[in-house]
This record gives sequence, C-alpha cells and structure tokens, in this order.
Amino acid sequence: MTVDDRGLAEIVIETVGALVVVLDREGCILRWNTTCERATGYTREEMIGRPIWTLLLPEEQEGVRAVFDQILALEFPNQHENVWVGRDGSHRLISWSNAALLDDVGEVRAVVGTGIDITDRTRAEEALRRQARRLEALAESSRVFASGLDYKTTLDTIARRLCELIGDGALIRTISPDGLWLVPVAVYHPAPERAALRRRMLLAAPQRPDEAITGRVIKSGHTLRVPEVTREFVHNEMKPEYWPYLDGVASIMIAPLKLRRTVIGHITLMRDAGSPPYTHDDETLLEDLAHRAAQAIENARLYSEAQAAVAARDEFLSIASHELRTPLTALRLALENMRRVSSRDALDRLSPEYVERVLATAERQGHRLESLVAALLDVSRIQMGRLELDVEEVDLATIVFDAAASLEEEAHQTGSTIEVRGEPVRGYWDRLRISQVATNLVSNAVKYGAGKLIEVEFGPRRDGARLAVRDHGIGIEAADLPQIFERFERAVSSRNYGGLGLGLYIVKRIVEAHGGTIAVDSTPNEGSSFVVDLPLRPSVSVRAAGADAPSP
Ligand code: ADP
Repeated sequence: MTVDDRGLAEIVIETVGALVVVLDREGCILRWNTTCERATGYTREEMIGRPIWTLLLPEEQEGVRAVFDQILALEFPNQHENVWVGRDGSHRLISWSNAALLDDVGEVRAVVGTGIDITDRTRAEEALRRQARRLEALAESSRVFASGLDYKTTLDTIARRLCELIGDGALIRTISPDGLWLVPVAVYHPAPERAALRRRMLLAAPQRPDEAITGRVIKSGHTLRVPEVTREFVHNEMKPEYWPYLDGVASIMIAPLKLRRTVIGHITLMRDAGSPPYTHDDETLLEDLAHRAAQAIENARLYSEAQAAVAARDEFLSIASHELRTPLTALRLALENMRRVSSRDALDRLSPEYVERVLATAERQGHRLESLVAALLDVSRIQMGRLELDVEEVDLATIVFDAAASLEEEAHQTGSTIEVRGEPVRGYWDRLRISQVATNLVSNAVKYGAGKLIEVEFGPRRDGARLAVRDHGIGIEAADLPQIFERFERAVSSRNYGGLGLGLYIVKRIVEAHGGTIAVDSTPNEGSSFVVDLPLRPSVSVRAAGADAPSP
C-alpha cells in the first residue's frame, strides 16, 4: 500500500456510514471508527485495547464468540446480527459482515468487522408489522361482529384474537341487567388449564361492578394500563380471592365497554411474565376493539329482546283468541238454546227459571267479552300515549266497596271471603280508572287466592291514599315478580288460569298516570300483597305518564 492509498483508506474508514471495527486474535479492539463512536458513545481512546465482548448483551456473548472462532478458522459465516450496548445503556442492533487479515504464513492476524446499524430500520419494520396485525384484527373484528353469530361466540372470538395479538389472557365481563354483578362472558388463555382455573375463580367469587380496580374503570369510563404489575399493586387493588388470578401476570390493561356514555362492562387483557409491558399503542388498539365489542353486545341484546317481544306477542295472540272464543262459544250456545225452543209451543212450556239462567249466561259472557275488548283497547291507548284521566273528587271507600261487592259472587264460588276495611279518604282521581285498579286487584286475588281469605284495606297515607289487596293463595315466584306488570306477561299457565296477562300492565299505567306507585310482595304458596299508593291529586305533568315510549 502506498502512502496515498493508506490515506485514502483512512478517509474511507472514517467517513463511511458503516461501523468498522478491527480486532486482534483475542477479540481486543485495534481500530474503532467514528461511526462506532457515534453509535455507542464510547471514544476511540476508551475502546482501543478493550475486548469487544464488553459491549455485548450477556445472552449474546456465547454466540458472538462462536462466530469469532469460525472466522479465526477461516470459515466465514453469513452476515449475522447482534446488539451493542452503548454508554447510556441504549441497544443498537447491528448487522455484520466480516473479513480476516492474514500474515505471511496465512494465519489470521486480525478480524475486520463492517457493520450496518439496523436498529431504526428494524424498529420501523416491526412497527409496520404491528400496525398491519392491528388493522387485520380490526378488520376481522368488524367481520366477526357483523357476522350475526350469537354474541357469546363473537366475544369468545374477540377475546382469543386479542390475546393472539397483544396479550396472553383476556376477560370480558358485562354488567348484569339488574346492575348488581359483573357477568363473565368470555375468559381466554392459550393454556386451557389456566383459562379453566380463571373461570372457576370467577364463578367462586362473583364481583360487583363498583368493586376493586375494575370498579374504578367502570366508574370513570377510562382505560387503565398498568405496564408493570407488582405484588403491592395486586394486594392493594384486588380482592384476596382474585390474587391467584394475577399469578404470573406482568402487565395488564382494563378497558370499559362503553355505549355512548353508559358503561356496560369491561375487557381486561393480561400479559404473562416474559412478554413486554403494555404500551400506549396496545391501549389504543384495545380501546378500539372495546368500542366495537360494546356495539356488538348491544346489537345482540336488542336482537334477543326483539325476539322475546315477538314470541310474547305470538303467545298473546293465541291466548287472546282462546280467551275471546270461550265467552263467544258460551254466548252462541245460549242463543242456540233459545232458538231451539223459540216455537210458540215450546216457549209456553219453558220455565221462567230456565229462561233466566240462559239470559244470565248470555249476559255474563257478554260482560266478559266486553271487558276483554276493553282491556285490548286500553293497551293500545296506553301505547299511543292516550290514557287520559277524567279527574273529579272521588271517595276511595265507595270505589273499593263497590269493586268488592261486584266480585262477591265470584269469590263465593271459589270459597273465598272478601274482607274490606279502611278509613275514609277522598282525592282527585279518575273514578272509572281507579275502580278498574281496585276491581283488577281484587279479581286477581279471587282468581289466584286458592279459596282463602282476601283482605282489602284502604285509607289515608302521608299526603296520599293507599289501597292494599292481600290474598293467601298461590303466590308468585321471585323470578316472575319483575315481569308481571309487563304486557302479555303471566306467571301461570293459561291452561290453568284464564286471562290475557294485561290486567296488571293496565293497572300499573293507570296508577302511574295518577302519579302513584304499585308494589307487590309475594311468597309462593303463601300469597300475594299488592299495594297502591296514590297522591291525593295527580299533578298535571304526570297525566300522560301512562304512555309507553313510542315504538320505533
Ligand atoms: P292475568 O290476566 O293473567 O291475570 P294480570 O296482568 O292481571 O294478568 O296478571 C299477570 C300475572 O301475574 C298473572 O298471570 C299471574 O301469574 C300473576 N298474578 C297476578 N295477581 C296475582 C295474585 N294475586 N296471586 C298470584 N299471582 C298473581
């Protein structure tokens, strides 16, 4: 090499963008170019003479030594990559090509490494790959959510997919309809035994929506990310029953499932020890998916409600036609009887008792038909928001005594006695409607009262009036109680007890239209007690309170 060549080589080595390092046979540094200085923060003076191994990650040292030995044996491996740890602890990923300088006898005198710093490129590639995986997950979730699968399957799929992408374990819980509990709907972990253990734990220790750390997320509506889950965190933030749940979990994110402003549950993702902590990017992806999941849950709920409504309506139609046909048949038979005997002769021979009996039947069935049709009309009025009150000063005692008297005969037939007592109270109400309330409640007590005593009580109550009807009959199962005031809902079979399942629905709307309330307390086989509280005057604003929200 001439002096000029040497100078040129020097310039190239110092200005080239690559890292150039020359090592002796022991791996000690002989040359350290400017790019090496820039990449590591270590100067030439510091590094010359130092073994190269000091720059490596402990876990990579063995591999790099093996490559070095190969080069000494003049077997050149392909390009290889390893990490250098800089002065400030930062990691640079470098891709190396190697050459050897030989002495006169062909022995390796020095090893020359030329490296390209691929840290940024690798990070960018990784970020792109991550981005692509996320987009894929979002596209897949949209597909799954729109696929019309039932929402349990949908959420299971989402939980699994989320885990494959950014977690080792997932839990999705929704708030129960009564708002009291968190109901697990999807529990996922790639190890089935861990998933099973978590499911058992969730079953054994049900959680309320306002408890512990999930409670905070549900209350605030904001996602919580804990990049590093420590023992203190687990002990401070979780109920002891749940501590084992986080065994081996290193990082956690909890996102609320939100529908507009209402939180309907949460998705929790967990990474096990050994995986990197959750980042802001992960949080964004989780929030995006949580948003879609909430929407899917809502759609599934609306769908099943619609299905239930259609089923209830179908059942109602069949009950209604049965209920309407019974009095119609009786009425027709009565008329046919009369026609058969309508010739003069036969009429003369008819006893007045017989005629009276046939007419009474016809009248009774006519009334029955009339009240069924009236109930149907009331329901459509209520639904259209047209339950109007004709308010006047009314004496509750008169209404209650009249209602009881009109049902005396019916009660007698079942073996029941109706006992009415109370203190006078007057208020401004719709006489016919309040009478309908009293009649309905007493009539139900007769129908479901198993022939036992029926107690009716009325009187003033704070700044209103109260009417209570108690029976000692079949009672109502606790699970049926919330439904009995709904349209078409019945807690008994129509085969054993006739009825449209509309009475209490109408009663409740009438009471509410007056600004009052109705409550029920019941024990199966012991009886039921219905209590109506009415203000003495309905306020103007509640006049239309009987209206349901308009149907879509
Ligand atoms: P129905 O026409 O079926 O009596 P209601 O709306 O009046 O309709 O009542 C709804 C349901 O509530 C009934 O089907 C019955 O299951 C239950 N129920 C109402 N009142 C009583 C009562 N006093 N005792 C037991 N069950 C009752």
